[in-house]
Amino acid sequence: MQNGQTSNGATGVKSKERNIIMGAGPAGLCSAYVLSKAGANATVVESAPFVGGLARTIRRDTENGEFKFDIGGHRWFTKNEDLNDLFREVVDDELLWVNRISRIYFDGKFIDYPLKIVSALKAVGPITAARAVLDYGRIKVKQRIKSTEVRSMEDAYVNQYGETLYKLFFQAYSEKVWGLKCDKLSGDWVSQRTKGMSLITAIKDAVIPSKGDVVSLIEQFMYPRDGFGRFSERMADSIRASGNEIRLKNAVEKIVLDGNRVKGIRVRTENGPELIEGDNFISSIPFTVLVKIMEPAAPADVIAAAETLTFRDIITVNLMIRKRQVTPDTWLYVHDRNILFGRFHEPKNWSPAMVPSDEYTSLVIEYFCTKGDHIWNMSDEQLVNQSVKHLVEDLDFVRPEEVLGGFTLRATKAYPVYDLDYQEPLLRMKDYIQSIENLQYIGRGGSFRYNNTDHSIETGMLAARNLLGETHDLERVNADDEYHEIKRKSSAAGVV
Ligand SMILES: Cc1cc2nc3c(=O)[nH]c(=O)nc-3n(C[C@H](O)[C@H](O)[C@H](O)COP(=O)(O)OP(=O)(O)OC[C@H]3O[C@@H](n4cnc5c(N)ncnc54)[C@H](O)[C@@H]3O)c2cc1C
Repeated sequence: MQNGQTSNGATGVKSKERNIIMGAGPAGLCSAYVLSKAGANATVVESAPFVGGLARTIRRDTENGEFKFDIGGHRWFTKNEDLNDLFREVVDDELLWVNRISRIYFDGKFIDYPLKIVSALKAVGPITAARAVLDYGRIKVKQRIKSTEVRSMEDAYVNQYGETLYKLFFQAYSEKVWGLKCDKLSGDWVSQRTKGMSLITAIKDAVIPSKGDVVSLIEQFMYPRDGFGRFSERMADSIRASGNEIRLKNAVEKIVLDGNRVKGIRVRTENGPELIEGDNFISSIPFTVLVKIMEPAAPADVIAAAETLTFRDIITVNLMIRKRQVTPDTWLYVHDRNILFGRFHEPKNWSPAMVPSDEYTSLVIEYFCTKGDHIWNMSDEQLVNQSVKHLVEDLDFVRPEEVLGGFTLRATKAYPVYDLDYQEPLLRMKDYIQSIENLQYIGRGGSFRYNNTDHSIETGMLAARNLLGETHDLERVNADDEYHEIKRKSSAAGVV
């Protein structure tokens, strides 16, 4: 990266400057929220008829009452107190604290997730456990003698946990999520998610509990009572209350350039095409799309770079169930290769308000897929039936007559795929976009970075602050060197 993404020449926004934000997911809404609170102008342009993007909540009215479903459960967690403050401020009186119990369903047994080594070693039996520890020792000795190159996801997991644990607990699930073999995926995702975690630290933490210098973000999390989507809906309410506008059903089709500045965006509306002109632009639409809709077009090598990057898609199957509880879990990860889905969550365990009454529960079952593959091509009815079959026959979690009904939701571009070669084309695209003075890119798909909501809104917040006269490098977001679910007091000055 040559230059970080800073204010792109748009510092010190004047009250009359028109700030146009593309995408009304959490990142884009956060930009508009921060600008609105500062009394600045903001117009959000969103292709969907609703706000919230991947982090929205769907409501389903039935004769039994209303069920609510996130697109895969979304919990709020962050190490950044600035963001926690913003989340609390927005969600306000709807905020709940939820205890987290997540487990892996493995060979008929339950193992704590994130992987707790002692629980995993117990579940696999003494012989495999001994092999796992030996493997781990072998890899650590090898690393001492000669530094091992970590290129692929497989290298990264083996390096961190040894081959036995990798094969038992990471390989099958990762391949379900990404649809690629782990040796074809970059190790970056692992280092982004499991920084500083190792078998030794895990065993040490299990045997000698930490003396309080580590704050776990695993056990509890914040959640809005009526679904994670309320976070976006409430930001949207506040943006509108300040007099700013959110234009739904407005799909951005072209970014119209004038030299090295954006002059306006061409959108498709219900009444036909329209050019929305502005002074400053923030994009949270997929990065690969952004570079392809420039007018005049981006250089051919930049477009070719964008063609090489892919996203993974997701289908959720949402089941409404007459039963008080299926499992006590927040999430249950299902590694078994014969079961098509990857994990599920039970919304009622997050908030009782997600189901009509205590008599009912529901499940959100996640199928990781790629548009056009065998899972994507299954009909909605097949997917619902397949899910119920797995739950009844393979997992013994429900009886068929308890399932009141189900429906699916398909979301494309849910996960940016870090394949082995993603970095070079991504840098090429960033170099080009950063040469455009009044355009910042934010969010998850918007920056082609595996950002959770916290990092997504952080980029949105900082992009807005750049327009308000501060100088922030958005490339530094989600680039720290610590596992994202622990926070060491000593390394997070002023945060704990
Ligand atoms: C299954 C799943 C589970 C997750 N769980 C968690 C979790 O537990 N905790 C957590 O913090 N995060 C979680 N996330 C991540 C979270 O969803 C994202 O970090 C967050 O939604 C990113 O926000 P965003 O605004 O960058 O992108 P998005 O939410 O993708 O929003 C982008 C918006 O841009 C709009 N758009 C796209 N193209 C155009 C166009 N051409 N014109 C106009 N608008 C356009 C889209 O319609 C969308 O509304 C999860 C994600 C998934 C898929």
